[in-house]
Amino acid sequence: MTEYKNAIVKMNGGAGALLCSHCNTIIATGMVHKDIAHSCDECSNWQEIIDYLAGSCNSLNSALDMFDAEHLDMHDPFLKMLDDEIFLCNTCDWWCPIEEANMNSELTCNDCCDQESDEEE
Ligand SMILES: [Zn+2]
Ligand SMILES: [Zn+2]
Repeated sequence: MTEYKNAIVKMNGGAGALLCSHCNTIIATGMVHKDIAHSCDECSNWQEIIDYLAGSCNSLNSALDMFDAEHLDMHDPFLKMLDDEIFLCNTCDWWCPIEEANMNSELTCNDCCDQESDEEE
């Protein structure tokens, strides 16, 4: 049996099922799939919203409005996916990739923290 590192493939009554890497919805059946993270239709839509927000200073509400997805405002799986990928910097109000979150102050991006320490010098 193939070992998958990125794709989530589960035995499902012997038939095998490919699951969405974000919400575990079954996307396809069978045991042979590309070993990449797969997204169901809804999650690909979420990804588009997150990509749209990343590196911008648009508000979440305006993004949801634009994608006609206002209901996601209170939808935990979506908010969790958002949290896993980007965060809204408290200082510059831009959405930054989560890797750029400063270790010392979670909601400030590295750029802003650098500037703050520059000013102190
Ligand atoms: Zn999904
Ligand atoms: Zn910032």
